[in-house]
Amino acid sequence: MNNMIYLDNAATTKIDHEVYEAMKPYFEEQYGNPSSIYSFAGKSKKALDEARETVASFLGAKPAEIYFTGGGSESDNWALKATAEAYRDKGNHIITSKIEHHAVLHTCEYLERHGFEVTYLNVDEYGMIKLDELEKAIRPDTILISIMFANNEIGTIEPVKEIGSIAREHGVLFHTDAVQAYGHIPINVEELCIDMLSASGHKINGPKGTGILYVRDGIKIGAFIHGGAQERGRRAGTYNTPGIVGFAKATELAAANMGQRMEKETVLRNYLISRVLKEVPYARLNGHTEKRLPNNVNFCFRFIEGESLLILLDQKGICASSGSACTSGSLDPSHVLLAIGLPHEIAHGSLRLTLSGETAKEEIDFVADSIKEIVGRLRSMSPLYEDFVKKDK
Ligand SMILES: *Cc1c(COP(=O)(O)O)cnc(C)c1O
Repeated sequence: MNNMIYLDNAATTKIDHEVYEAMKPYFEEQYGNPSSIYSFAGKSKKALDEARETVASFLGAKPAEIYFTGGGSESDNWALKATAEAYRDKGNHIITSKIEHHAVLHTCEYLERHGFEVTYLNVDEYGMIKLDELEKAIRPDTILISIMFANNEIGTIEPVKEIGSIAREHGVLFHTDAVQAYGHIPINVEELCIDMLSASGHKINGPKGTGILYVRDGIKIGAFIHGGAQERGRRAGTYNTPGIVGFAKATELAAANMGQRMEKETVLRNYLISRVLKEVPYARLNGHTEKRLPNNVNFCFRFIEGESLLILLDQKGICASSGSACTSGSLDPSHVLLAIGLPHEIAHGSLRLTLSGETAKEEIDFVADSIKEIVGRLRSMSPLYEDFVKKDK
């Protein structure tokens, strides 16, 4: 097999050809600034309006509640910082979890340096937040709960509807980083009591550098980027028309094939999990078994360095990840794996494989064979492993 096998779709995805085709006219032909008056620009304006409607209807929102941004990180930063600023007179307490993406965690740390108090909720061994702990953490001065929809490393899907209901009962705003969930599993902001939601284009076969923030009507957060009057004065900057069109097209395609893709991914995901757990000794699945993104697999292999595993997989043309892309390159084990209670030495041997709708069974078989062989080879060089097996017998 000399083709590359790409199993790092949680890091980024290939742009869908239909998305690319939909964007193309807005580079060369329809390049008008949507904010201009002449009819030439009107076509870009129309494309923008349609894109907003597509995204809004996908989420069960109103078009005026959708703000186009420059990606998931920007949306997370905006939701947290602007809520903190706008609701400061009500309180300075924010609740989040220990397993959030760094776009949320580092923003929380920034807010802590600016006088806000943040509670970082623990998760259980599957990466689920505990609803009773969430409820106990709410105080009269709590202004925001920000909990991710699904985790980018271990794929665990959080009890979003319950979190939303608790937030609403207590009159606290609820933001969710849905970057890994948007376009992958159904989301309806009304049913789930979501007040703000972040999503990103490049995680759903759309263009990089595009995203949205959904902000429920009536939430009074201010602008994040100051300047022109774009996005109803809340997000300045000339519209990225091709990017916005691409984001909407990617949304439309994701919505159209969602059920089918979820089913196909789930079957292959479970097949990969069962093969590896059966054939590789002392392998551990991280994350929840059922409440899990259809395309996410995350293992730990004791006595293995994740980095060595990645390099040897790469030699076979397999693209995978050991934690999140942002922490690859650093020697710290993933904060998510530590939060689910894994000791450092086990968290170091982690491997994340994230499928796409196009992943084939033959690829999964090749990957499972490769993991088995490489883990065996690396362990055969480890005296620690030898001792461990002797004692375990
Ligand atoms: C990728 C990712 C982000 C960041 O999105 P960008 O569009 O790359 O800025 C934020 N949160 C989660 C959960 C992600 O997976």
